[in-house]
Amino acid sequence: MTKDWYPIIDYSKCVECLTCVNFCPHGVFEAKDGKPSVKNREACVDMCKGCEKICPEKAITHASK
Ligand code: SF4
Ligand code: SF4
Repeated sequence: MTKDWYPIIDYSKCVECLTCVNFCPHGVFEAKDGKPSVKNREACVDMCKGCEKICPEKAITHASK
């Protein structure tokens, strides 16, 4: 089953502060070569917007169907 709620990073806005990586308590993000990436979208909690709110650049949005 494909998860339909997960974060999407807009890399044109991201400043690689890694706040999102350190913030999410569910291990959805990982840091890869100093950049955040979404490694485990299945672990994202439906309707959570924690990382979206905490990103200083508003670079995170969420997919939803
Ligand atoms: S919190 Fe926002 S700006 Fe910082 S690494 Fe994550 S997506 Fe990029
Ligand atoms: S929405 Fe919540 S659970 Fe999903 S990645 Fe962001 S902080 Fe983690």
